Amino acid sequence: MSVETEHLEAMLSRLKLTLLRDQLDTLLDEAARRELNLREALVFLCEAEIARKDQRRIAMGTSIAKFPFVRTLDGFDYDAQPSLDAKQLRELATSRWVGNGDTLLLQGPPGVGKTHLAVALGRAAIERGHSVLFTQATHLVAALAKANAEGTLEQRLRHFTKPKLLIIDELGYLPFTANAAHLFFQLVSRRYERGSVLITSNRSVGEWGQVFTDAVVATAILDRLLHHSHVITIRGDSFRLREKRRSGLLKADRVNHQTTA
Ligand code: ADP
Ligand code: MG
Repeated sequence: MSVETEHLEAMLSRLKLTLLRDQLDTLLDEAARRELNLREALVFLCEAEIARKDQRRIAMGTSIAKFPFVRTLDGFDYDAQPSLDAKQLRELATSRWVGNGDTLLLQGPPGVGKTHLAVALGRAAIERGHSVLFTQATHLVAALAKANAEGTLEQRLRHFTKPKLLIIDELGYLPFTANAAHLFFQLVSRRYERGSVLITSNRSVGEWGQVFTDAVVATAILDRLLHHSHVITIRGDSFRLREKRRSGLLKADRVNHQTTA
């Protein structure tokens, strides 16, 4: 390696331009092949470096978020869910609501795409530079209750307060004990007007009194969550059953019976 190349690599390392450092020859050849002038070449190199940094940041953010599966908004079939407003979802996909610290509630029966949308919107938020954490409601309260019993509640609360967007999946499938509801209230209060919360639930907001056992705690939680909020109600058939019906595994009347049960 020439002294000049070594010097250049050392400078690129110091500037943390790792893609330029690692692929310098290929990139310079490409710039030459395209006959770029100096300014154009600089643009080309900066874009390449930024693309790689974005890619890494998104990969890192996605792994920290602990999504249960990979889903995107592009992979969502809007025609299958006519109760959804595509324009509203496009607006949510900009993640402005996350920047504002708003709450988003996705409610509807099982299989209509709530978790899919939660993961896809979470990923969109990461792309916009926000930190995200995905958790199931039962896991969340179990973790808080355990920490409370062990005297480490403060750390746990901080863990769930830190991400700019906290996604709480499947709230309401199981009712909370009074203790769990109180711990959940503490978390919601901490996040209030600081970070965003996305909640998916098979229960409508009106039924949350039952979820949190205590109507007073439920009101206090809702008061904070709904202050700056967007509520999306998804109706219609389970996507899973729909796919099965389409492939002939289920007869239509049987599906209707199952989804209304
Ligand atoms: P929910 O959380 O409402 O119970 P999910 O989001 O888990 O439902 O959806 C069930 C499965 O069906 C997932 O694999 C999801 O990706 C898929 N799915 C649901 N709705 C749609 C849709 N409109 N377009 C594409 N896939 C969908
Ligand atoms: Mg789900």
